[in-house]
Amino acid sequence: MKRPAAIPFVDLKAQYRTLAPELRAAIGGVLGSGNFVLGPWVERFEREFARFVGTPHAVGVSSGLDALHLALMALDIGPGDEVVVPASTFIATALAVSASGAKPVLVDCDAGTFNLDPAGLKAAFSRRTKAVIAVHLAGQPADMRAIMKFARSRKVPVIEDAAQAHGALYHGKQCGSLGLIGAFSFYPGKNLGAYGDGGMVTTRDSRLAERIRRLRHYGQRAKYEHVEKGLNARLDAVQAAILSVKLKHLDRWNALRNAHARRYLRLLSGTPGLSFQEALPGATHVYHLFLVETSARDGLREHLRRAGIEAGIHYPQPIHLLEAYRDLGHRKGDFPNAERHARRTLSLPMYAELQPSQIQRVAAEVSAFLRS
Ligand SMILES: *Cc1c(COP(=O)(O)O)cnc(C)c1O
Repeated sequence: MKRPAAIPFVDLKAQYRTLAPELRAAIGGVLGSGNFVLGPWVERFEREFARFVGTPHAVGVSSGLDALHLALMALDIGPGDEVVVPASTFIATALAVSASGAKPVLVDCDAGTFNLDPAGLKAAFSRRTKAVIAVHLAGQPADMRAIMKFARSRKVPVIEDAAQAHGALYHGKQCGSLGLIGAFSFYPGKNLGAYGDGGMVTTRDSRLAERIRRLRHYGQRAKYEHVEKGLNARLDAVQAAILSVKLKHLDRWNALRNAHARRYLRLLSGTPGLSFQEALPGATHVYHLFLVETSARDGLREHLRRAGIEAGIHYPQPIHLLEAYRDLGHRKGDFPNAERHARRTLSLPMYAELQPSQIQRVAAEVSAFLRS
């Protein structure tokens, strides 16, 4: 019998095939213009992205990590300060805090939604707390009402790490427009991905937006007029032109991801030993990742691999157990939900171009393994 084609975790080439002529024209336009860093393509994409998110300002930057780092710099957060971040996230959330010179203070995640549990905020706050970074993990908004309410009571701003949540809604409002500052990544595998690195900072605050524009560009107000110590963290024109083409398709891609998730849920609900990321009321998920949870995670992943299906783990270690963050002095058991999440969750293949027949095959293999 012929072995069916492998099912990758993401398929960037499938998306490229659908847009190749338009993308080539956009890249060609930039190459012919001689404008490669910042400039008209970046300004245009900034306007388009600001309109999409619903904030007056969007500042194109070099990556999601830099977007978070610049947000903290613009808030004058540095050595001696603390920033609260979830223990379950990609390391970049914590690294941005470390890059600013401040200390990341971790909060456990909710066992059902896997997002920051607002009940843990009180214990994490101190007089040194200068911000909270809420992460919309996997594409589902964090519990922003509770997080914002607590942060407001302590007069501390909330930064959104929306690197996995382009287009996700919370009570009808876009992620990235809910807190004081939103940070996005355009890493190729994200819901809106460049062909290289890129990022965006969104905000309603004109003063912060101006400061971030300056900080991403050597701290200069005008050429060679350096008014503070900045970074080189700019979005480049080729990526901006690519992202302008792709942004027009983002809502459709997110709708397809939602349809795929519904199909997975329909096929897999009731599978013994399998559970799913809990839905947060008022949240519209964009399924950057489709997460399932089982105590047999590693065996399931191996079974899928043998069947030609690639599944991912996001992430195998919570922040406090990473070697890079040994200096925080945490131990196993400090954040039990984050540890359980790291041990038990698996990300099934998820991208807009995934076919119903592929989803059926993945679901059949998951089900066959867990029922055996
Ligand atoms: C991808 C990601 C980032 C970092 O983005 P880069 O563009 O790779 O620097 C930050 N936070 C989260 C939650 C991410 O998934």
